[in-house]
Amino acid sequence: MAILVIAEHDNRTLKGATLNTITAASQIGGDIHLLVAGNNCKGVAATAANIAGVSKVLLAEQSTYEHQLAENMAKLVLELGKDYSHIISPATSAGKNFMPRVAALLDVAQISDITAVISADTFERPIYAGNAVATVQSLDSIKVITVRSTGFDPAEENGSASIAEIGTAHDAGISTFVSEEVAESDRPELTAANIVISGGRGMGNGENFGLLENVADKLGAAVGASRAAVDAGFVPNDMQVGQTGKIVAPDLYIAVGISGAIQHLAGMKDSKIIVAINKDEEAPIFTVADYGLVADLFDVMPELQQKL
Ligand SMILES: Cc1cc2nc3c(=O)[nH]c(=O)nc-3n(C[C@H](O)[C@H](O)[C@H](O)COP(=O)(O)OP(=O)(O)OC[C@H]3O[C@@H](n4cnc5c(N)ncnc54)[C@H](O)[C@@H]3O)c2cc1C
Repeated sequence: MAILVIAEHDNRTLKGATLNTITAASQIGGDIHLLVAGNNCKGVAATAANIAGVSKVLLAEQSTYEHQLAENMAKLVLELGKDYSHIISPATSAGKNFMPRVAALLDVAQISDITAVISADTFERPIYAGNAVATVQSLDSIKVITVRSTGFDPAEENGSASIAEIGTAHDAGISTFVSEEVAESDRPELTAANIVISGGRGMGNGENFGLLENVADKLGAAVGASRAAVDAGFVPNDMQVGQTGKIVAPDLYIAVGISGAIQHLAGMKDSKIIVAINKDEEAPIFTVADYGLVADLFDVMPELQQKL
C-alpha cells in the first residue's frame, strides 16, 4: 500500500496544511510519496523532502502546473495516482478544486474533509455543518481523500526523502491562468495563525475593526470575521470564518461581537481556547467559550489593548 499526497504550495513555500495531511497519511500507514507540482519549485521540493514520514518527493516542474489549474492537475494526479491505494490532498481551495475531478475520472467516490483515520478504508468526517460526525467506509480500490487540516497535528520536519523528477507536462487546453489578486498582510494567514481574533456585526462598521487590529498586532494574531460582518461590507470575504468561510483551529480564538450561530461555530469550535466578548449574556457563543466576558466591546477592547 502506497499513498500519494499532493503538496499545497505557491512555488516558493510549502503550505502548512501539507504537514497535517502527511500526518493523516501516516495514520493510514504505508509508503508516503509527496507530489510537488508547479513551476520553478525545486525549493519547495527540498523542503518537502524534510517532512518526516515521506519516503519520496515527486517533483513535476512545468509551466502548465505553475498555477495548479485544476484541469491540468487532475490529469497529472490521475496519471500518477493509478498506482497508489490512496490519493490525498488538503481540503484547501486548491485541493477542493482538482480532487473531485480526479475522483470522477477514476470513477470512485471522494471522501471529503476527513478529521480522523479509523483504518485504511474508514474515516470520520463532519456533516451538518459540524453538528454530527459521520464514520464512512470506502470499498473503492483507490481512495481519493481530502483532509481537514485542523483535525491532524503537523508532521515533524526531520525526514530525508529522495526527490524524483516527473517529466510529463499535461495541458488540458481548456483553461488558462489570467490573473490573481492576493491580499497582502503583515499579519499571519488566518488558517495558519496560532491566535485569531474575529469581529462580528457587533463591531458596527469596518473602521471599528481597527480595535481588533490593534490587539492582533500586540498578540501576533490574524483577524477574522463573521459572515454578518462580511455581508455588511465591514471587511473583505477572505476574512470570513465558518461553514462557508475558513475553518480555523488556533490555540486561542477571540470572538468579539459575534453571537455564535452554528454556521460560525462550524469554522472555529475546534479552537483550543475560545474567548467570547459579547454584551448579551444569552449569546450562544458563550456555550462554546472557555472564557466569556459580558461587556460592551467598545469599552473593553481599548482596555485590553492597553493592558497587553
Ligand atoms: C448556509 C449558511 C452559511 C453560513 N455561513 C456562515 C459562515 O461561514 N460564517 C458565519 O459567521 N456565519 C455564517 N452564516 C450566517 C450565520 O447564520 C449568522 O447569521 C452569522 O454568523 C451572524 O454573525 P454575527 O454573530 O456577527 O451577527 P449577529 O448574530 O447579529 O450577532 C452580533 C452579536 O454582537 C453582539 N454585540 C452587538 N453590539 C455589541 C457591543 N457593543 N459589544 C459587545 N457585543 C455586541 C450582539 O449581542 C450579538 O450577539 C451562514 C448562514 C447560512 C444560512
